[in-house]
Amino acid sequence: MDKNINPRINKIVSKPPEYSVEQYVEGIIKGDRNFLSRAISLLESSREIDKKMAEEIVRKCLPYSGKSERIGITGVPGVGKSTFINIFGRKLIEDGHKVAILAVDPSSSLSGGSILGDKTRMTFLSGNDKAFIRPSPSAGTLGGVAAKTRETMLLCEAAGFDKIIIETVGVGQSETSIASMVDVFVMLLVAGTGDELQGIKRGIMELVDILIFTKDDSDNQVRTKISKSQFETALMMFPPKPSQWYPKVLSVSSIEEKGFEQVLKTLKEYFELIYKNSFFEKNRDFQLVQWFNEQIENSIKHRFYNDSNIKNNIEEIKNNILQHKISPISAANSLIELFFKNRE
Ligand code: GDP
Repeated sequence: MDKNINPRINKIVSKPPEYSVEQYVEGIIKGDRNFLSRAISLLESSREIDKKMAEEIVRKCLPYSGKSERIGITGVPGVGKSTFINIFGRKLIEDGHKVAILAVDPSSSLSGGSILGDKTRMTFLSGNDKAFIRPSPSAGTLGGVAAKTRETMLLCEAAGFDKIIIETVGVGQSETSIASMVDVFVMLLVAGTGDELQGIKRGIMELVDILIFTKDDSDNQVRTKISKSQFETALMMFPPKPSQWYPKVLSVSSIEEKGFEQVLKTLKEYFELIYKNSFFEKNRDFQLVQWFNEQIENSIKHRFYNDSNIKNNIEEIKNNILQHKISPISAANSLIELFFKNRE
């Protein structure tokens, strides 16, 4: 009989944790992928007991984290992210690094599954013990997914992964969120019609440190060359970045395995610059404070919407707004007062 089923009520009672926090932390620090995977699952779990344990594990792993280069890679579906990352990751491993690939997919709660972290195109990486691939949890808001990605990243670093690749689909909002947790932001594009430029929001262009045109195969070189020079000109219009880095435009062909040495060289130059001028630490410090602020906002929102008083009243108040009985501002204020009244 399953010991987790209480025979009197015939219901599953919560399972006792299989390992202690100390065992998890020890396993992770030793680089044990099994412990790392299980700890990430605890992070993603909705059970209070798991969440508490995950929080402890992250806290204890914190002193061992941070020693990595965090690379954000974005691009629309089909641009060639997985194929690119498979080769790029392999080259990093050949250079002696350990690579973690975390995929943040804000659309996954709608599509019901992650379209990133595509292991079928990451054939080399998915079978390699120096690589760790983890798609984002398939449910939740972008804020929630981003918060978990940050913590996952810390655990991967504690497990010795020194190159963290955070992959995301280019849908606008997610790029801003990813840029706030990485050291360098890379955008992949395919050369083509020449009007790719119009499709990219100014705000996203401002985030880009390295722009890479994919599918620069032998029979596509002319188009890629035209697009590259268009983007080089466009990027020059932007004011200098706080990192003092001038964004670079590169191209690769994953099929022909061409252009990757230049990508690695450019990344090396970028990191050399930001280590030297201290932008690396300044940016990491800024991101920590930003993370703290976001965490407060997320927690307050979570507690607010899960408060029984709020739950009981919110629909009626919404109806009153729709019937023009109350303005949205007064409605919001009265609900917020209701929330705090019980806490005074
Ligand atoms: P993702 O959706 O951005 O992860 O894109 P994928 O890596 O899954 O690639 C989408 C399609 O583009 C696949 O059919 C790949 O085989 C193809 N592809 C990727 N890189 C190249 C390349 O360098 N040249 C060509 N011709 N096709 C490529």
